Amino acid sequence: MKILSTDVCIVGGGPAGMIMALLLAKQKVNVMVVERNVNFDREFRGEVLQPRFVQMLEQLNLRSYIESYPHLKLKHGAIMKESAQIGEFNFSAIDSKFPYAMWMPQPILLQALYKKCQEYPTFSIHFHTKVQHLLKEGERVKGVITKNALGEELEIQAKITIGADGRFSTIRQLGGFELEYDFYENDLIWFTIPHPKDMDNTLRFYMSKPIYLVLPKYPDLMQIGLAFPKEKWKEIRGNGIEKFRGTLKELNPLFQSFAEGLQDFKSFTVLNSRVQYVKEWAKDGCLLIGDAAHCASPVGAMGVSLSVATAIVAADVVWKGLNKQDISQEWLSQVQTIRSPEIRLFHRSQIRIEKLAIRYTPWLKTIGGTLIPLFVKTKFALSIQRKIFLMPKSLPIDSSFVFEN
Ligand SMILES: Cc1cc2nc3c(=O)[nH]c(=O)nc-3n(C[C@H](O)[C@H](O)[C@H](O)COP(=O)(O)OP(=O)(O)OC[C@H]3O[C@@H](n4cnc5c(N)ncnc54)[C@H](O)[C@@H]3O)c2cc1C
Repeated sequence: MKILSTDVCIVGGGPAGMIMALLLAKQKVNVMVVERNVNFDREFRGEVLQPRFVQMLEQLNLRSYIESYPHLKLKHGAIMKESAQIGEFNFSAIDSKFPYAMWMPQPILLQALYKKCQEYPTFSIHFHTKVQHLLKEGERVKGVITKNALGEELEIQAKITIGADGRFSTIRQLGGFELEYDFYENDLIWFTIPHPKDMDNTLRFYMSKPIYLVLPKYPDLMQIGLAFPKEKWKEIRGNGIEKFRGTLKELNPLFQSFAEGLQDFKSFTVLNSRVQYVKEWAKDGCLLIGDAAHCASPVGAMGVSLSVATAIVAADVVWKGLNKQDISQEWLSQVQTIRSPEIRLFHRSQIRIEKLAIRYTPWLKTIGGTLIPLFVKTKFALSIQRKIFLMPKSLPIDSSFVFEN
């Protein structure tokens, strides 16, 4: 078996893994990413990037670099009841410096980060390579064993192994990390339709049964997400495409021609709305970040922003740990200490909203339709939006992580 060694092995080339790799490579740390896919192509993944994501880019001085790649700027959101708008929010009212959310397809974001990583000689990546085992000495993690598409095994010895391998993390499973909670009640069913020429780039949230989202998608599509209680999708599929075609047509005239063209269920992607939190994110020589440590539900489209914030904090803690030769569980768990209050706060709110949205849809449809328009106009609503869409302060990292112009 071929053997390689590095300072940091990051398992997973998603947003968390790639930003952490970039920041460590910038600090001249040897960092090796292992990604099971052949490239960064993926559909329906973290494409709405909240103003707090733009804020992080600004902190790292990467905002203009990332924004030089194709994206849409989303400035408004609307709450709809059938075809009538009953409430709205405006990102510019929330903050004048970060007055928009970005719509950037994840492959474009990852490609941009990858291109920047390639400027640093201490960065390397193995695509089409899947982690299968952890290397351990006693309780200390010392790297991974991987297999590539040709079936060749590769041993990667590392001072620190990072599990950035998403919500179904292999590192979490192999390392014996325990979940503190795993909330799962609903599914979001995604599909895309062409963007009608006369429709603007507003995010729309429909209070109907089912509740659904209509989001502009770069460059000329609309992405629709329908929320159903778990198990419901199985039932819908069982009833056949003809019946679902009718449901879609009734839901919104926008879906008419998409529904008419449906022959089967292949155009739909199911996202389980999971909220997961790992009890302890660190072990000696090993750390979980991003969705692997704290998966968020789709409520508020926060997943990428939360994952990337943890990755940035992790880069700082790992870099300092390597410098002082401390890669113990105690040292690495600082990442959790810093990030946990915010993550837990969002998780609690998401779980509440998920329960409310699905279980009390009839209640929401009647009372919510009257109260929501009044509520969104209040100062309190604006302060909640600020808390959701913006970070209260910069991430606590060393200034040497900031990129030069
Ligand atoms: C359908 C859908 C829509 C979403 N929409 C939004 C949105 O609009 N906005 C938002 O902010 N968030 C959204 N999210 C959530 C967001 O995509 C995630 O929170 C985010 O991608 C997490 O980043 P990550 O880097 O932690 O993990 P991931 O993006 O999941 O990346 C993990 C990587 O690890 C790799 N990997 C896994 N196992 C192995 C292994 N054994 N060996 C090697 N590599 C491995 C995977 O191939 C993957 O590339 C959405 C998620 C889904 C599924």
